[in-house]
Amino acid sequence: MLTWKDVISFSIHGSPNPDKIVVRSLEEWKRLLSPEQFRVTRQKGTEAPHSGALCSIYDEGKYNCICCNTPLFDATIKFNSGTGWPSFTQPIKENAIKYIKDESFGMLRVEVVCNTCEAHLGHVFPDGPAPSGLRYCINSESMKIKKEGEER
Ligand SMILES: [Zn+2]
Repeated sequence: MLTWKDVISFSIHGSPNPDKIVVRSLEEWKRLLSPEQFRVTRQKGTEAPHSGALCSIYDEGKYNCICCNTPLFDATIKFNSGTGWPSFTQPIKENAIKYIKDESFGMLRVEVVCNTCEAHLGHVFPDGPAPSGLRYCINSESMKIKKEGEER
């Protein structure tokens, strides 16, 4: 289980290597994504709180990257943080997420991106529930739910 200490270490020394890497040009991503998906994942946008389609959904399944379809989170580790964004306590696998130190807006935060295609997902904070104490605050636009047994 990852803790805040691991997150800080990954953001300073580098994250675990992904299983594979997906690289596309901005033009290609623009063609493949909706305008809002493109803004959030490729231009580090943030959707308005409580606006996301996945915010109040707790169906079983995996949450995959909207860009490259890599599983990022599981419904069993989703919780209601009350923030208006889908929130998780752990990634589905230790190497699913890449951690980047983010000093924009005069704050020190840790940005989380898809480790496979570098899609912007959101941020991780040290104020989540026990035992990990982590809160991955993720844009709905960055993910799609993949139900058990579904091909895509
Ligand atoms: Zn991805």
